[in-house]
Amino acid sequence: MAIREIRVLGDEILTKKCREIKEVTPRIRELAEDMIDTMYEANGVGLAAPQVGILKRLVVIDIGEEDKPPYVFINPEIIESSGEQTGDEGCLSVPGKVGTVTRPMYVKAKAYDLDMNEFTVEAEGLLARAICHELDHLEGTVYVSKAEGGIREVQYADDDDEE
Ligand code: ZN
Repeated sequence: MAIREIRVLGDEILTKKCREIKEVTPRIRELAEDMIDTMYEANGVGLAAPQVGILKRLVVIDIGEEDKPPYVFINPEIIESSGEQTGDEGCLSVPGKVGTVTRPMYVKAKAYDLDMNEFTVEAEGLLARAICHELDHLEGTVYVSKAEGGIREVQYADDDDEE
């Protein structure tokens, strides 16, 4: 297990388009494992390869659904989307900030797993948002360019009763 350095806004690599993965080599497998570790370490719900400096079409997502392993998406594509949701979004490459972004409420995505088997996922709500956000990274797009009214500091409530 290894934690990789997360690139932050201003790093040119975050603006570049990523290349398709043609074969899952041991290095790709290691990258996926490291990205999962890095995402958990940073308390994120998703991470795309360019965020750790690798311009390949690989994304990991875990929105905290119980008993579900993290998603690993290789060469993901959104093949259907519908509806709309407007809400706050953050990014591990833009620490301490959030912005309001409108995304589809539902997406169907196809991708390959680490054995290069194709699969599809139907996602709603937060998972749909996470998929859209991470796939944008593969095109060199960070959510701040889509944030309505720009980005702002995260406000932490001191008197909420969350554990
Ligand atoms: Zn992000």
